[in-house]
Amino acid sequence: KIIKNLKKFIFMLPIIKTKDLSVIYNLGKTSESRALSNVEMEIYPEEYVAIFGPSGCGKSTLLYCLAGIEDPTIGEITIGGKNITKFSPLEMVAFRQKTIGMIFQSYHLIPTLNVFSNVTLPQIFIEETLSKRKEKAKELLQRFDIWELRNRLPGELSGGQQQRVAIARALMNDPLILLADEPTGNLDSRAAKIVMDLLTELNEKDKKTIILVTHNPQYLYQGHRTLYMKDGEIMREVRNPRKKDVAPSIIKRERILLPSEIEEISQRYPFLSEVALQAKLLCQYFLVKYEEEEIKRLENAVESFLLNHITKKELEGILNLPFEEGGVGFYKQTAKRFITEMETIFAEQQFLRERIEKAPEQVSPLTLKVQRLRKYLLDGYKGNLEKPEELFRLEKFIKMRLENKIDRTQFQKHLSLPLDKWGVGLSRRTARDFARRLEIVLVKY
Ligand code: ADP
Repeated sequence: KIIKNLKKFIFMLPIIKTKDLSVIYNLGKTSESRALSNVEMEIYPEEYVAIFGPSGCGKSTLLYCLAGIEDPTIGEITIGGKNITKFSPLEMVAFRQKTIGMIFQSYHLIPTLNVFSNVTLPQIFIEETLSKRKEKAKELLQRFDIWELRNRLPGELSGGQQQRVAIARALMNDPLILLADEPTGNLDSRAAKIVMDLLTELNEKDKKTIILVTHNPQYLYQGHRTLYMKDGEIMREVRNPRKKDVAPSIIKRERILLPSEIEEISQRYPFLSEVALQAKLLCQYFLVKYEEEEIKRLENAVESFLLNHITKKELEGILNLPFEEGGVGFYKQTAKRFITEMETIFAEQQFLRERIEKAPEQVSPLTLKVQRLRKYLLDGYKGNLEKPEELFRLEKFIKMRLENKIDRTQFQKHLSLPLDKWGVGLSRRTARDFARRLEIVLVKY
């Protein structure tokens, strides 16, 4: 019983855990680039997790860090309770052999060795008798239907067959964890399906923990969870409602029955969790009910404001007034944000109109650059510039900085000077922030 409880306890602990994991290439140089940014994730024993995201988002970097092939710039990786970032090179080799099996998009088989030798090779470093190694290789090759090909060279096999050899090789030391980097990237759809089904089988039957890196959404349905990556970060996690959870019994989630309507939306959003599906259903219900009337009131109020029938303050009041009392029913913050955004749009419009009237000739590349930089600075700004002068001046100073007519300190000073002193009138803090961000992008421009 103690062993059973212990096993249960161990299963509740993640087998892989990363903390604040970052990988930065060319640190400190102008070419500095961040492949991973503060990645925090937990993978549980026997889980099958897909890491999904566009090319270049950092998936492979993350996988290679977990495999101990890539060193993180900052952060920790714990696998099976051990901090692998602290391993010596020798410890790392031993750890990789025992714990991790890897499969790559381009198979990485040794072209001069036949299939059988390619598969038995990893065992050479591990104390096992040759006969045991051969036995194990035979078992795997038979299981994957490539035993007949054992004497051929990799170059004489199809892509799908080569990948099956690579999977057999990855399993020779019976690792707990299988890491797969786009394993079907070079395969046609039939061969790809065989490989994907194999991975599922290895997870379900052999209880391997699997991490699959892919940019093909078609393969996500086989895992328990999908981690979505973008620009080196994990943006969100989606559980596969069609699979029983392995992970957190720690994170308590209630079991919710699937009434037919939820079942229906779940067909349309196969990767949303049950709670997320229920939230969607409820929102759709409420939105359909209130939306029309709400939008009508919102439109009327904005129209009145545009016609100068009501002031900005009155508009905000209507947006904020409860729905039952004839208002739009926005929260105070939402109403404020709505007005701020609306004003920014108006200011941009007026600004552009004046620009077009004043400068009908073609826009120069420098002007375009300036406009892009202005947009970049304002996009990261919480406040808003309402007056066209403010925007004009901001552009003027960006242009001067680009032409090196002023330095960073002068740029910052002009931004924080009040409008009547020919500045932009930004707070000192914002001016400093803009100046810093502008310098950063200028380095890269
Ligand atoms: P993915 O696997 O999602 O396609 P990668 O992990 O290969 O993404 O790459 C993430 C980012 O790191 C990319 O922008 C890539 O250009 C960059 N990168 C990868 N390796 C290096 C390197 N050795 N030097 C500089 N940048 C790199």
